[in-house]
Amino acid sequence: MRLRNITGSREVIADSPYVVQEAILEQCPGTWHTIFGNNHPVHIEIGMGKGKFIHAMAKEHPEINYVGIEKYSSVLLRAIQKMEEEELPNLKFIRMDAEDIAKVFGKGEVDKIYLNFSDPWPKDRHAKRRLPSGQFLARYDVILKKDGFLEFKTDNRDLFDFAVEELEPAGWKAEVISYDLHADEKLMVGNIMTEYEEKFSSMGNPICKYIIYR
Ligand code: SAM
Repeated sequence: MRLRNITGSREVIADSPYVVQEAILEQCPGTWHTIFGNNHPVHIEIGMGKGKFIHAMAKEHPEINYVGIEKYSSVLLRAIQKMEEEELPNLKFIRMDAEDIAKVFGKGEVDKIYLNFSDPWPKDRHAKRRLPSGQFLARYDVILKKDGFLEFKTDNRDLFDFAVEELEPAGWKAEVISYDLHADEKLMVGNIMTEYEEKFSSMGNPICKYIIYR
């Protein structure tokens, strides 16, 4: 998702109390419980887009701290506007490329990772940019606690097949693999639809989901 550049979005982000600012990111590893002021588990969504999913999750689970990560200022701006309408104490945002995720969270500091409708990067030479790639799984391996889980949803079957193939060589195992999430009553319990999930499922696309661990 890349909205046209919105004038002033960088300034809004720089002034927002909901955003953990770039200048202090390198001090963050190991300090997330201090940032939130409690010892609740930390769940993150990488590539959150406009933040519909993570905002709804944070509202529904006040006992969990959420961090939404998004690369583009113009997209993050929408998530900030949502927080201005409905402020939640257990949700923070970071504007960054997730390539550097292991510089922002300490070893095993994250309890759960969500990837939702990640960009497919269809060209082979861009495979390592895909958020469920082996290269990214290695970064998640550092920050995710030992018995933590990662959940991934997409309607893109090629990306999903790629993601499943990446698991074994990277040392991850699947607890759940579904090629039609919305037809699975058990998996749908507590499912919060992302913006893309709403869009693509309304077009009739089946939604794939895996839940993985090491
Ligand atoms: N998760 C949302 C949803 O399901 O509705 C948005 C999906 S959108 C297709 C993917 C989002 O991931 C975009 O907003 C994009 O900017 C962001 N993104 C892609 N690669 C990223 C990266 N390396 N680091 C941070 N964000 C990234």
